[in-house]
Amino acid sequence: MNTLPGHPHFAYRGDVLHVEDVALDALAREYGTPLFVYSKASMLEALGAYQRGFAGRKSKIHYAMKANSSLAILQVFARAGCGFDIVSGGELERALAAGAKGEDIIFSGVGKSRAEMRRALDAGIACFNVESEAELEVLSEVAVAAGKTAPVSLRVNPNVDPQTHPYISTGLKGNKFGVAHERALQTYRRAAELPGLHVVGIDFHIGSQITTQGPYIDAVDKVLDLVEAVEKAGIPLHHIDFGGGLGITYNGEQPPAADALWAELLMRIDQRGFGDRTLMIEPGRSLVGNAGVCVSEVLYLKPGEQKNFCIVDAAMNDLPRPAMYQAFHAVVPVARHDADPHTYDVVGPVCESGDWIGHGRPLNVRPGDHVAVMSAGAYCMSMASNYNTRGRAAEVLVDGSQVHLIRERETAADQMLKERRLP
Ligand code: PLP
Repeated sequence: MNTLPGHPHFAYRGDVLHVEDVALDALAREYGTPLFVYSKASMLEALGAYQRGFAGRKSKIHYAMKANSSLAILQVFARAGCGFDIVSGGELERALAAGAKGEDIIFSGVGKSRAEMRRALDAGIACFNVESEAELEVLSEVAVAAGKTAPVSLRVNPNVDPQTHPYISTGLKGNKFGVAHERALQTYRRAAELPGLHVVGIDFHIGSQITTQGPYIDAVDKVLDLVEAVEKAGIPLHHIDFGGGLGITYNGEQPPAADALWAELLMRIDQRGFGDRTLMIEPGRSLVGNAGVCVSEVLYLKPGEQKNFCIVDAAMNDLPRPAMYQAFHAVVPVARHDADPHTYDVVGPVCESGDWIGHGRPLNVRPGDHVAVMSAGAYCMSMASNYNTRGRAAEVLVDGSQVHLIRERETAADQMLKERRLP
């Protein structure tokens, strides 16, 4: 067996890549391509590292479902005891449909609408993570009108550089997220005065794909300073929510293990005297990113003067991260041949030069072969679109030797369902 780095449940058996006990080429033949395939064991193993890290603590893990919000994925986490961090009314409905209770849900995001607030209040969610003074005022109004009290936490922006891609950096002064550290105390005072609100906590989230522990340590120190100041002002904080952001191995990165990171952070939190609070986190990518691959068929090999292209049937509508963030996904053959590899730009069929999956990749493939685009469990299917009227891919969840089709391939008719022709 030959396990792929960062993907403990993806391994070559002989020359064929397997996920858990299932051969990926068999799945591609049965369900077609592009096909997302997820390993349940990988998800539970990733979650287990956090659960070990928080063992014996008052804590709650809210899976940041934006990373992958397919219902069956949510069910895996709900059944394993997770709550959900949501950022829209749509995610609220998905979480509830997957079996979550309102009390398991926290609501983040800079632009919650009144209708979303009202629905979340009716569902009895655990906390609104409020991101601005204006949002506080509106939430209080909505809650008063509904005859309810909204539990709130303020998302504070600790102004820490997470040293990641600028589009997924969220805790710097120039970012749109959270309440500035310097304004946090006065905003808490206002929250405590407003009639429709009940202050329950504090939260932050500094960015995504963070691969070192330094930014977390800086952010935790700054936020604990604030907890002290807010409580000195007579506003008790029952929970501290440390957000998500822990990175995964896409291309040799070595992020800290979740349990090791939390051993370090908890030591500091205990030293500062806050270890008895309810400790919350909102991981997304680190729970699902390396639990999924996208299997794609090689359509054509196109030699060029400057480059060779390997044209596959997955595209930027299925795998938006390279086009959005110049992100790296490893691309490996599903069935290995032993001839010499050639170097290709791996690209999709969409009519954009930005539609690429990998540049300069050594691959030994022929038309009709399958490749696996690795680390495709997070921010792929949940960001997929219908650009070029391409149906979204099917999804399969593997559990040992069992295979569950968790999403059927979208047809052109599905895509046109909500449209109306002119009379
Ligand atoms: N919490 C909030 C508020 C977020 O915005 C995000 C991602 O953007 C997350 C949690 C999850 O981040 P990650 O997937 O990097 O763990």
